Amino acid sequence: MLIKDLVDEDFVNYKEPAMYICTNTCNFKCDKESGKSCCQNSSLARAETKAVSDDDIIHRYLLNDITKAIVFGGLEPFEQFEEMFNFIAKLRFVYHCRDTVIIYTGFNKTEILSMVDAMKCFENIIIKFGRYIPDQEKRYDKILGVFLASPNQYAEEIC
Ligand code: SF4
Repeated sequence: MLIKDLVDEDFVNYKEPAMYICTNTCNFKCDKESGKSCCQNSSLARAETKAVSDDDIIHRYLLNDITKAIVFGGLEPFEQFEEMFNFIAKLRFVYHCRDTVIIYTGFNKTEILSMVDAMKCFENIIIKFGRYIPDQEKRYDKILGVFLASPNQYAEEIC
């Protein structure tokens, strides 16, 4: 899949250590809606795009005894839905790994319902929904075990 970066051991986006996959594109909806240049991932947009095979990423994950989950995050994973879906299908059905997959999206749930429903064929999927809205109070999310940047954002165990 096309990515901007891959962090083998990330400790800030989930309550357990996780591999963090930085996806490749976003239409910068948070900036457009807030009228400010507020995207927390804007530096990634200028980073080089890398093509990495799903098998290579999964091997790296499975060989690491520290990490217990995989996080997809900024830019916007749902703009690469097919790539992400195929990755998770391979993780579940080829490598038989049931570890939790967390997806950080800036979309609201109502905007991506059909894609969220499609993910229900897997298990142990958590999606964090909602735009980043600047100058708001952060909010602790019990499902993720971390603070989210604005109070409209929340995580849901979808399956
Ligand atoms: S969805 Fe994420 S990457 Fe896209 S503009 Fe919002 S914060 Fe930035």
